[in-house]
Order: sequence, then C-alpha cells, then structure tokens
Amino acid sequence: MGEHMNVRTPKQFVVDARAVTRHIEAICGLGDRFAGEPGDAAVADYVAGVFEELDLSLDRTPISVTGYREERCSVTLNGHQELEALTPYYTRGSETRIQAPGVFLGDDQRLDRYDVAGKVVVFEETDESFDFFWLGTLAEKAADAGAVGIITIHPLPWPYRQSMETGLADLQQRFADRSVPTVCVAAAGGMRLMRAFGAGKCDITLDVQTARPTVESDLVIGLQAGRGESLERIVLMAHRDFAIAPGANDNGSGIAAVLELARVLKDLDFDATIEYVSLPSEEGSAPGAAAYVEHLQASSAKVRAAINFDMLAVGGRLRLVEGAGWPNRKMRYHAPWLNALLDESAAELGYELGRLDLAWGVGDNGRLMEAGIPAAWFHKPDDYRYHSRHDKPEHVDGNAVKAAAEITALAVWRLASGLESGGHDH
Ligand SMILES: [Zn+2]
Repeated sequence: MGEHMNVRTPKQFVVDARAVTRHIEAICGLGDRFAGEPGDAAVADYVAGVFEELDLSLDRTPISVTGYREERCSVTLNGHQELEALTPYYTRGSETRIQAPGVFLGDDQRLDRYDVAGKVVVFEETDESFDFFWLGTLAEKAADAGAVGIITIHPLPWPYRQSMETGLADLQQRFADRSVPTVCVAAAGGMRLMRAFGAGKCDITLDVQTARPTVESDLVIGLQAGRGESLERIVLMAHRDFAIAPGANDNGSGIAAVLELARVLKDLDFDATIEYVSLPSEEGSAPGAAAYVEHLQASSAKVRAAINFDMLAVGGRLRLVEGAGWPNRKMRYHAPWLNALLDESAAELGYELGRLDLAWGVGDNGRLMEAGIPAAWFHKPDDYRYHSRHDKPEHVDGNAVKAAAEITALAVWRLASGLESGGHDH
C-alpha cells in the first residue's frame, strides 16, 4: 500500500477546467440532443471520438427510446396578447387551435372541487418546489374532469420545460392514458393572466403541435480494462440529452466531467475495469439508464460502484445527493460508504462537499440503484435557469466541474487499485 502511495499522489489528478469549458461549448454547438434528435447522435460521436483518442475501447449499443419535438407552441390571451410559452416534453398537441375560457386554481391540484369542463385550467407554481414538474397524472385528472388544456405559471422570468410523464418509478406507467395539451408560461405571462382574471375576461387560445416518435439512440461506453481476471467495474456516467437547448449545465457539465476523468485516469493500472458512460434519454423517467442496466446485466460485469454527474457547474456548493426517489417510491439512499470515500478525497484535496435530499425525482443513478448497484450522485440542483433556454455555456463554471472530477479521480484511484475495500456498510 505504501508503495502505491509513492507511485501516485493526489496532485497528479489535475482536471483541466479550461478543457471542461471547451467540451461544454462544443457540445452545446451540436444542436438538439433530445434523445434521437440529430444533436444526440452528434454528441454521441463527439464522446466516442474522445474515448477513441484516449485509446479506450468503445462499446456503442443502439437502443430505442421515445423522442419529442415541439413544432409549435402559441398561447394567446383575449385574442391579442401573445404569452411566451414552452411545452413540457411529451405533451400531446391541440390538434386544432383550442379557444376556451381560463379557470384559475392556483397551486390547488384538486380538480374535482372546481368547474373546469370546457376550460383551460391555470395553475401557479408558487415557489421553486417543482410541484408541477411531473404533469402526467394531473393532465389525466384534467382530461377526466372535461378540461381542454392546462397552463402552469412558472415563478421565474422564463418558462421552463416540465415533463408530461407521471414521474412514477415503473416505466410501464410512464405515460397516463388520457391527457390534455399543456404549456408553461413565465411570471410575466402569469401577471397578464391574473390581470385578465381580475378584469373578468380571460379567454385563452392554445395552438400546440408536437410529435412523440420512437427514435434510435446509443449507449456510448468507453472501457478501460482492469488487470487480470477481475470482472469488477466502476462506472462513471453522465446523461448527454437535454430538456431544451442549449443544456450547458444540464448536462454538458456532466459529460465534460466524464471526458476529463477518462483523460486523467486512462494511463493508470487498475484491478477494476472503468466504464465511462454517456447515456441518452435521462430527461424524465431515465429510460436510457434502464436500458444501460439491462446491458450491464447481460454481461458478467459486477459493478462495484457507479458515480453519476448531473448539473455540476452552476449554483451553490458542490453536493452529493443522499436520499432521492420518484414520487411513488420511498427515498432510496446512495451508498454511504461511497459518499464517505468521496468525502475523504474531497477533504484531502481541500474541496468542500455538501449533501442534499431530493424528493421529486432521481437521475440516471436511480435506475442503477433500483438494480442494487451502489451509487453516488454529484448534483447541484439550484440552477435557476434549469430546463430553460438560458442554460448557456457562458453561465457555467468549469472550476466547479474540476472540483467534482478531481474528488472522483482520487476516490476511483483508491477504489479501483484495491486500496479501499468499500461496500461493507449496510
Ligand atoms: Zn440532468
């Protein structure tokens, strides 16, 4: 062990924040990377190209996923005021233009208490709790109550992209059977709606056209083979899709972390095999990660630990998620021994590393945890440009990505060299 310590010191895991920023800029320049869109394939090629340049062996496995395109989204108030609006992904279209009176419910989701038949229901998200992120079940209730559409008001100066999925953990229940066209408007649009309600006349025209095609995408995996016979794997992963362009923090930052980790770790000799993983289709219920879990289970690989990078470069302190879950699941806890190992590395390198719990959703790592794989998740959720058109490269901090990646590099070196036993707490 002492010998190993002399071969490598923490100082040698230096991640280049400038390379991080260049990767993020390049990725954001490749267009629409929602699963199956041309930018998804372009970023898959970009990531595969970096893996090949680093002499990793490449495993590129095609999968089928549900795509989404917003072709038109227009909201008009009282026939003349256009409100800036955005559809949640997977929203159904309005087929023809819908014109109907609005009815304001605030944050009350109990539709049965109101007369909403033939109306557009207007909800207001009053804080950043994301209570109106998963809209599938609400839209089903609205359809059952005879409503013709939903508008949610976001408390920030721009609309954000929500999901028309149920948010339930089981992918068989991913979409509700019935639905109504749904859009999100920003605070300014919300004020106009309030004025119209106050004046007693709030007629809303919704014109929404969308597509939900089945599309092809790829799991892109760079493999750094371990020594000898070991089947153990350590997975370093990030999703490459976004909710909406350009997606610099979510999740250009995570992709860049994985690419830099591959660069700083590739020449080290490990017992375990390292898998650097780029997944499509995290947005929403993470079916891309579910496909990756099947891919892992089809091999004889034994995953010792998986570390997910999702939104590292904006807002607040660097943190690891402790508990997280989907709305219909008990909180699942990330591996305490793995978090402790990352803590030790952070302390050694002089980085701060906090904790948080997330109750309203879990990223790709949630699918791995459901399969019993010990996981950790670097995630800074307090990005107020989240899922909006303003998540741009000029707002991201490459140094924040550097911190997460260097902490990980040191921890992975210990874990993959067998210097750290790991996995013994329950
Ligand atoms: Zn993300």
